[in-house]
Amino acid sequence: MKLPNFPDKPYQLKNFIGNEFIQASGAEFEIHSPHYGKVIGTGKQTTSSDLENMVSKAKQAQIAWGNTPIKERTIVLFNLREVLIRRCDEISEMVSLENGKTLTEARAGLMKGIEVLEFALSIQNLDTGAQMEVSRGVTCAYRREASGIVANITPFNFPAMVPMWTMPIALVLGNAYILKPSDKTPLTASLLAEAFQEAGLPSGLLAVAHGGVDTVNAIIDHPEISAVGFVGSTKIAQIVYERASKNGKKILALGGAKNHIILLPDADPEVSGVGISDSFTGCAGQRCMAASVLLAVGEVGDQIAKIKSRAESLVLGSDMGALISSEQVEFLKDAISKAEAAGAKIILDGRNVKAPENCQSGYWLGPTIIEISDQNSEVATKELFGPILTIYRCDSLSQALEIENKNPYGNACSVFTTSGGLAEEVIQKSKAGMVGINIGVPVPREPFSFGGIEASKFGQGDITGANSLLLWSHHKKITTKWQMQKDHNWMS
Ligand code: NAD
Repeated sequence: MKLPNFPDKPYQLKNFIGNEFIQASGAEFEIHSPHYGKVIGTGKQTTSSDLENMVSKAKQAQIAWGNTPIKERTIVLFNLREVLIRRCDEISEMVSLENGKTLTEARAGLMKGIEVLEFALSIQNLDTGAQMEVSRGVTCAYRREASGIVANITPFNFPAMVPMWTMPIALVLGNAYILKPSDKTPLTASLLAEAFQEAGLPSGLLAVAHGGVDTVNAIIDHPEISAVGFVGSTKIAQIVYERASKNGKKILALGGAKNHIILLPDADPEVSGVGISDSFTGCAGQRCMAASVLLAVGEVGDQIAKIKSRAESLVLGSDMGALISSEQVEFLKDAISKAEAAGAKIILDGRNVKAPENCQSGYWLGPTIIEISDQNSEVATKELFGPILTIYRCDSLSQALEIENKNPYGNACSVFTTSGGLAEEVIQKSKAGMVGINIGVPVPREPFSFGGIEASKFGQGDITGANSLLLWSHHKKITTKWQMQKDHNWMS
């Protein structure tokens, strides 16, 4: 088993500003390793005056960057791709250390971030604008312009991938960009900043502002920051969305999820066994796309047996990582115990797992499968964010769809079946923003955009792909006439 190395000395986290690493001046906070359950570093919160300094550097740098042709801006991203591939192991090790993921999962997250970068590289060719002669001698055209200074606030669960959902796209479009990473997993952001620096991004265009609530509020209240992306829990997404909207900013805030998987009796047991087990146990269930509720329609005993056998075979540390905090482990154990006390059957119990060697103080919970008879129970309706699959038996596909559609979230829904007709029915009738057919984690690959609906997303557009361009830029509309028109009409 390969776990990330415990650091020889604690990390001293610093902000990134004007191509330098500088200590913020606010209150101190600790950074933990979930595998080892120990402090691995400390950081300081970014105050309003720290932010002011970043914004003034960003403002100067953005003017020149915004006036640089996109083909030149793109060269930095080509360089960045090489740097990230070369430093992939180092970055993945840091993701794993501070987040608790396995090294394989950490690497996969970074690779997905690199895929977004590749989409950003292609914007220069995909987005050439539009021009049309709308009247004799009169043309209309779109010219894309950067939003200016933009910011992005990210969650703990993908320290490299979620920042990389937006950094390459926003920067290639000509913006200056401020990243506020999760204060639980902030260390990876320093490596990403180093990579951009190594790739030749001009000074001032990328800043990293560490901190929590106060730093986020300073960002969304700052009058010079014009657009904000947020990814995190629904409760905070809504707070940030409302505050940023009141301040007149463009804002897209992605929230939490409660994803359903519909398992039909004709599903291939191998495909569904692996797909569903890996969906709820991957990243220890700390993914907004993780399977959370299994709506088992009809006779699906063989398929459930396969899900269970794969989940119980996982080795903690190498196949499944740790949870983000001891509080989260306690919250999840409590949710399992409450369900059990209310009559749920615990089919697989992860509460008393053995931690990997040298990781006894870490934050561990094994894969857990619970079968409930009350579809409104907490484990079936509340986002748990851990390796727990709640099974509810349904009489029909219609009943399963009704349950899926009445949940307040709208991130992902998948169906496992061998029938194209039934799959199509789920595509048409499920309300989720992202639907999977025989895929446990239906994350769209670039250039297809990522985003849910309802309580999983506040704002317009999506966070990646073509649907994200209007968050980080706008179209200037230009109407041109160089000569007197011969035919006079209402435009003349
Ligand atoms: P979180 O909402 O606690 O934190 C997200 C960010 O908001 C962090 O940077 C944090 O420092 C900041 N923050 C925390 N409290 C705040 C407050 N009161 N005011 C302003 N900012 C605040 O989320 P998390 O625990 O880091 O991440 C897990 C959550 O993120 C889950 O709900 C998961 O579903 C969701 N998530 C969603 C997506 C998606 O694409 N929809 C992707 C990843 C994670």
